[in-house]
Parts: sequence; structure tokens; C-alpha cells
Amino acid sequence: MPQQDPENRINNFFEVPYGLEEEIAFTEASRCIECAKAPCIGGCPVEVDIPGFIKLILEKDYAGAARKIKATNSLPAICGRVCPQEEQCEVVCVLGKKFKPVAIGYLERFVADYERENDLVQLPEKGPGTGFKVAIVGSGPAGLTVAGDLIKHGHDVTIFEALHKTGGVLVYGIPEFRLPKKIVQSECDYLARLGVDFQTSTVIGKSDTIDELFQMGFDAIFIGTGAGLPNFMGIPGENLIGIYSSNEYLTRSNLMRAFDFPSYDTPIIRGKNVAVLGGGNTAMDSVRTALRLGADNAYIIYRRSETEMPARIEEIHHAMEEGVQFHLLTNPVKFIGNDDGKVIAMECIKMELGEPDSSGRRRPVPIEGSNFVMNVDLVVVAIGNSSNPLIPQTTPGLDTNRWGNIVVNPETMQTSREGVYAGGDIVTGGATVILAAGAGKKAAKAMHQYLLSRKNSIAAGF
Ligand code: FAD
Ligand code: SF4
Repeated sequence: MPQQDPENRINNFFEVPYGLEEEIAFTEASRCIECAKAPCIGGCPVEVDIPGFIKLILEKDYAGAARKIKATNSLPAICGRVCPQEEQCEVVCVLGKKFKPVAIGYLERFVADYERENDLVQLPEKGPGTGFKVAIVGSGPAGLTVAGDLIKHGHDVTIFEALHKTGGVLVYGIPEFRLPKKIVQSECDYLARLGVDFQTSTVIGKSDTIDELFQMGFDAIFIGTGAGLPNFMGIPGENLIGIYSSNEYLTRSNLMRAFDFPSYDTPIIRGKNVAVLGGGNTAMDSVRTALRLGADNAYIIYRRSETEMPARIEEIHHAMEEGVQFHLLTNPVKFIGNDDGKVIAMECIKMELGEPDSSGRRRPVPIEGSNFVMNVDLVVVAIGNSSNPLIPQTTPGLDTNRWGNIVVNPETMQTSREGVYAGGDIVTGGATVILAAGAGKKAAKAMHQYLLSRKNSIAAGF
């Protein structure tokens, strides 16, 4: 995939890979041998018909290929950019045994972009109005998927979103250089054209509770509120000025466009020596943002080794190309501030890997006496997120597990409350876009069944 040069791209927020040219996409598609028992389909969490869509590329029916993907995954332009294909469909592609696997993700992106850029997105037929009203809380990939599926069945759909823009992590977390906002916006516009009503700047649990939504006449509710509560290290000095959670840092930069301050109102601290703590996608997005905001030194501080890093391989590779410095097997133990309460340094300790822990990964163990101090003027803590407790706290009878995630029936995504369904990160904890979208598909199916059964009960006079 052609891409912007690292020296240029660290000075802008434009998307890094340019996308495939038609000719290259065709050549890549022709590598697929259309396996009878295509293992790639099983590797995809939502079982996209991969050889089926690739065959349509070879017939030059690119919009048809996009529609084939959309039969099971409504967000191909997004998933083609951010899915970890290297661990899913591509890792099991038979060509990978001897050669490189088919670049399924690049092809997915190609057909979805072709369909959108050539105005070939068709609005599906909508079923006759059922009179049922569905409320969806949260407009991330889970909520958007439920909305798309239920509106097609003729239900009235309203999405309530706490932020002023829709898209969830896709707009406030993942930066423009990985996922342009206009792509997420076009997915939301498509739903609006289908008739989905978006109510932004509305925090359910504060403006109205789940029970109040029922009183307002909603017949079923989906909770897709994600995992947006940042975790912290809990070490001395963490409240110093210049220490952000990755949530705040990325939200300021992406959603509030702080990179364009003062044209936009939101300021952001632009560090020269920036340490980002963590090894996941959020950490890579934060450290690459810091470079684009003018850091001379941008460090990843991660307590395990590169093998255990949860970030996508492509993101680690891009970060390395851009000059990010990786301090692996290193963990901060305290932050040091100046008299103004600003962070100026960070004390770290070196780690080594011991026996595997409950996650199956080797546990990092501190090496006594290996402490050292790094000069930093900005720290971004990117060590994971937890579920926001607001809705469980304001919804009696809604069961959660010990991490605060909502408990659901995995077949139907139904919660412990009748008519209330949930899916995505609020159920699984921080996971992936495709898993959230897949949970949305499952929930939409069950919610439709539930509403049909209510219709039958009403018709029977119960
Ligand atoms: P979210 O996307 O979190 O959306 C939830 C929405 O609900 C938010 O808009 C929130 O404002 C809203 N909300 C919350 N509470 C309320 C309330 N009370 N009332 C109304 N609205 C509410 N996954 C990948 O597959 N590939 C990647 O490359 C990748 N990179 C990532 C990078 C970052 C920085 C982050 C944070 C995550 C990344 N992920 C990635 C994970 C992925 O984005 C999430 O798994 C996915 O977005 C979860 O979708 P969701 O619909 O469950 O929730
Ligand atoms: Fe094509 Fe690879 Fe899937 Fe086989 S496994 S159908 S070669 S993409």
C-alpha cells in the first residue's frame, strides 16, 4: 500500500496509507485461489464472505463487492482501515503458508472507498413502519450497527450520544491519520438518510435514565456506551500538570481539534519530551499524535516486550518508522514535578519477564536497583479503559460483573432487564471495532424478534 513518507507525515494529520490503485487491487484479488473451505471466513469475527467479495473485484463489480461485505459487516471502510486482519482473516489465509496472505483488509478498504467516492451507496428497502420505538445509547460501532439493522425492519430508531459528535471511539479516539473523520461521518449520514434520529450532547443516566426512556415510549433499548473510563497507574505524582489520560489527550486533539488551536478553542499541552505509557493501539495513537504536535522525543514506555504488545503490528511499524523511541521492559514508579506543579521527570524501573500470568503472557517483574530517571515534560497514560458506571448505577436490576461490564446472554445480547440489550466494549471491556459491530448485529436480530413477539402479544390482547 503506498503511503506518506515518515518525514513528511509527522508534520501533518492526513491519512498515512493512500489506498490501493484499481490495477493493484485487481492484481491482489487475482492472487486469491477461492478455496472451497475458505478458512479466512472463519477467521473473521463476523464471517464476511471473503472469497465472494474478492470474486466480485475480479468481475470489476466493486460496489457489488462492498455490498457483499455489508451483508455481515456494515462498516467496511472503517474495518478495512483499523481491523487487526493480521490476527484474523489474513493469518489463516492458505497463501500465507508459503507466501504473503491475500491483503484482505486493503481490498476491503478499496471496495468500500470505491462505493462511497463514486456515490454508489444504495439505500436499502425499508420494511413497513412497525410503530415500535427503539432507543440506542452510544453511537460507536456497536450502536451504529444496531441502528442500521433495526431501521431497515421498519422500527423508529433514536440514538442518544453523550458527545456533540457521533461515532464513539472512531471520532474521539482514533486519529485522523489512521481513520479520516469524513468516513465515519458518511456512515452516520447514511443512517440519518435512512431515518435514524441522532440526539447528541445527551448523557443517558443524567438527562434521562433507562427507565425514563421506557416511560417516554421506547419499546426496547440498546446500551452501547463503550469503555471510556481511563485507568491510571496509581503512582506518586500522577496529578501533576502535564499528565493526561490518553482519553483526554486524544479527545482534545481529535474531537476538539486542539492540533489547530487557536483556530479551534481547545488548547493542548505540546511536550518536547513526551512519554506515553502502554503498548496498545491507544498508546501508539497517542505517541504518534505527540510527534505531530511537535515532540522532539516521543517515547513508548511499556513494561513487557514487543512480543506482548497488544497494538496492531502495522501501528507499531508506523510508529517506529516515524521515529518513536521504544523503552520496553520499563515501568514508571513515580512522576517528579517542579515548584509550579508541572511534570519534569519520571522515575522508571527496568523489568524482566517471569512466569505467565492469568492473561497467558509472561508477567513483568521489576529488577531491583535498576531505577533511572527520564526527563519528560508531558506524559500520556494509555494503560486501558474501564466501563463507565453511570448507566449501571442508574438502572435498577441491570446486572454487571466485577469489572463493571454489563452481563448479557451471549446468544441474544439481552441484559438482566427485559427489553434492554447491550453490546460492544461495555460488555467485553476494551476490544475491537469488528467485535463491537458483530455484537450490534446479534443484538439487532434479537431485538427485532423481541419486538415482533410483543406485536403478537398485543395482537392477541395480552
Ligand atoms: P465506543 O466506540 O466507545 O462508543 C461508545 C459511545 O457511547 C461513545 O460515543 C460515548 O460518548 C457514548 N456514551 C457513553 N456513555 C454514554 C451515556 N451515558 N449516554 C450517551 N452516550 C454515551 N479497535 C480496532 O479494531 N482497531 C483499532 O485500530 C483500534 N484502535 C483504537 C484506538 C483507540 C485510541 C481506542 C480508544 C480504541 C481503539 N480500538 C480499536 C478499540 C475500538 O475502537 C473499540 O473496541 C470500539 O470503538 C468499541 O465500540 P463501542 O460501540 O462498544 O463503543
Ligand atoms: Fe482467498 Fe486466502 Fe480466503 Fe483462500 S484463504 S479464499 S486464498 S483469501
